[in-house]
Amino acid sequence: MSGSGAGKRLILMGPPGGGKGTQAKRLQERLGIVHLSTGDMLRAAVAAGTAVGKQAKAVMDAGKLVSDEILVAMIAERTAKEDCAKGFILDGFPRTLPQAEALDKLLAEKGQKLDKVIEVTVPDARLIERITGRFTCAKCGEGYHDKFKQPRVAGVCDVCGSKEFIRRADDTVETVSARLKAYHAQTAPLLPYYRAKGLLEQIDGDRDMNAVTIDLERVLT
Ligand code: AMP
Repeated sequence: MSGSGAGKRLILMGPPGGGKGTQAKRLQERLGIVHLSTGDMLRAAVAAGTAVGKQAKAVMDAGKLVSDEILVAMIAERTAKEDCAKGFILDGFPRTLPQAEALDKLLAEKGQKLDKVIEVTVPDARLIERITGRFTCAKCGEGYHDKFKQPRVAGVCDVCGSKEFIRRADDTVETVSARLKAYHAQTAPLLPYYRAKGLLEQIDGDRDMNAVTIDLERVLT
């Protein structure tokens, strides 16, 4: 996508398992702006055993939200880096009203603003199936699904040929319902917040991934 009208500072919202990570990765390639996933950042912190990682692990395993303080500091630091100068796609942040307000403040201090907030909608009933079947290549991160997208050759990544795959620790039936609850209670209130600012677009995410990408591109050009 090369439309000159393409937004530069974007938020992709939607329930867990709704496909925002996959779509954000695609947009990163098409728009040439970085994909910032706070879930990925936290998982990296947990894997590295940092102080933040140690604090976040139990909260994430329970499907609850990590504190606003940690998240806001993480995003402030990450968006100050050089590669964010051209813009970014936020995936998984903000997730609470205080986070959204902190983001507005952070951008205002730099004379910047958000260009668009896109919600990828998927009914709850479909999310459990989508989340509990997913796995990714341990080497390149390509996403797969037990039911919807198996590798072409069983046990071998289509993209990089690796034979190692991983499943997220929080992609279990028990944790998914806690994550959905957190989404409806704490994150869904952000929709009217962004609608009131005239930034919100909604896209039906309960379809083939490519159809969703086409709609996203339409909204952004
Ligand atoms: P995700 O990969 O976006 O599904 O995030 C995985 C987990 O990381 C969530 O269930 C939360 O525990 C935590 N997390 C990620 N982003 C945030 C955020 N913006 N605020 C609070 N917790 C977050």
